[in-house]
Amino acid sequence: EEVVAVNFIEAEINKDNEEGVYGGRVHTRFPPEPNGYLHIGHAKSICLNFGLGQAYKGLTNLRFDDTNPEKEDVEYVNSIKEDVEWLGFQWNGTELYASDYFDQMYDYAKVLIQKGKAYVDDQTAEQIRQTRGDFSTPGTNSPFRDRSVEENLKLFEEMKNGVYADGEKVLRAKIDMADPNIVMRDPVLYRIVNADHHRTGSAWKIYPMYDFAHPIEDAIERITHSVCTLEFEVHRPLYNWVLEDWADSEKPRQIEFARLNVTNMVMSKRKLRALVEANLVAGWDDPRMPTISGLRRRGYTPAAIRDFCERIGVAKADSTVDVALLEFCIREDLKLKAPRPMVVIDPVKVIIDNYPEGQIEMVTVENNPENEEMGSREVAFGREIYIERNDFMEEPIKKFFRLAPGKEVRLKGAYFVTCQCIVKDDAGNITEIHCTYDPETKSGSGCTRKVKGTLHWVEASTAVDVEARLYDYLLKEYSDGKDFLGDFNPESLQVMHSKGEACLGTTKPGDHFQFLRQGYYVTDKDSTPDHIVVNRIVGLRDSWAK
Ligand code: ATP
Ligand code: MG
Ligand code: MG
Repeated sequence: EEVVAVNFIEAEINKDNEEGVYGGRVHTRFPPEPNGYLHIGHAKSICLNFGLGQAYKGLTNLRFDDTNPEKEDVEYVNSIKEDVEWLGFQWNGTELYASDYFDQMYDYAKVLIQKGKAYVDDQTAEQIRQTRGDFSTPGTNSPFRDRSVEENLKLFEEMKNGVYADGEKVLRAKIDMADPNIVMRDPVLYRIVNADHHRTGSAWKIYPMYDFAHPIEDAIERITHSVCTLEFEVHRPLYNWVLEDWADSEKPRQIEFARLNVTNMVMSKRKLRALVEANLVAGWDDPRMPTISGLRRRGYTPAAIRDFCERIGVAKADSTVDVALLEFCIREDLKLKAPRPMVVIDPVKVIIDNYPEGQIEMVTVENNPENEEMGSREVAFGREIYIERNDFMEEPIKKFFRLAPGKEVRLKGAYFVTCQCIVKDDAGNITEIHCTYDPETKSGSGCTRKVKGTLHWVEASTAVDVEARLYDYLLKEYSDGKDFLGDFNPESLQVMHSKGEACLGTTKPGDHFQFLRQGYYVTDKDSTPDHIVVNRIVGLRDSWAK
């Protein structure tokens, strides 16, 4: 059946299907290098590749592109598998590894040597770079370019057997040092790396370059559409060149799309690692990190991230998406699902002087005013409560409809209270706000008198201590420049000693909430019954209203 193309990649696939290029097969792959944790940019690629597999009832492989032994680790393999599954996708069969194809790659490199299409070069990396030319100047041939097939085969085998040190020799494609596309000027196919690989140990002394390895990986797995980011567009002729002598007639084709950039976020594993190594964050899953594990810990849901990836679409030109769209998506997902308890983030004590001492009464509050089906709960009310420090102003500015001396407000689900006086410590900080309440105003009692402001509150004797971690953007402004560490926002984490209503006492890591009037929160993995820790996911859109 037809898939209605919603992006240019689907349009390309439909065309291939009409022309019968792959006999109607659609087989994609997500090919991360296990050299770090996945970020939101990878989520876009995951949603795209797995989404194509699903739309065409095809298959999607998870393949680790593990061809750089020095940077890769099984820790990253495990985190990547966890992240893909968490996002809600299931790969075809077991996960695959480029390192499982090292023998096939080596054999294919020998085929190229035998055909006179590859040679061993003794030049240094620097010499190779200098003789490559530039846009206006052709490169110059290596003095080793015309070695015999026999000599090349012998040297290549010696490279493999560890006869040479790192950088002493490379295997290069013999294409054209004057090709207008610099990528095609005898690119390096293999380099010597004397380092242990996380899966193959010390078996290999040579490792294939991405441009050689990737098309072979795709071809071995019989991938049809090899979707990658735009910077590989100039590499496409090389991708096709590598596969010219590949025996299978159904060769994969590379299609490029624009990579995702998001304001206030760095989108590169290398830069994210720099933040971790500089101890500016508490690891790859710090809730400020744009990693999938960081977003998960921050309280983002798989549905919100998938929704975000769908909304941004798939384009052929680079652009930067506003982080506000990601924030919109999590609000949308949680709005009707998350219960809305009252938590006072920055508490100040209120004493209701005309309320009986020692008395606690239960008042009824709806769990989610926008979703009646979530029902209601009983909340303790008493003589001493907490309210937000910024819900009180000693000298209120115009249109401040919250608490102030002589002013009356509604306490959500309870009574109207009027501020009578305040108590300050020696430093001038308010320690107590004294109020009186009007017993006739109990919520639901049919009182017709109106007040402008409604505050959330928490009864003091039954309150639960909550550590609330408030986050701001990790980077002060979007910058993909070199000195991004200089854009680090030192105020990106603020720890608050908050007071929550009793129901917070049983929260478990991963529980989502909207704290009334405060924003969306999630219980952090550091949280225990004795020490509750929550992360602010995102504020409410209009935190001053309501
Ligand atoms: P980084 O530069 O962050 O290290 P990478 O591209 O080197 O990323 P890989 O592990 O090689 O990371 O990427 C796996 C797949 O994810 C690739 O197909 C790559 O094109 C894609 N990808 C990486 N970053 C983005 C992004 N910002 N937007 C969309 N796709 C991305
Ligand atoms: Mg890469
Ligand atoms: Mg990279």
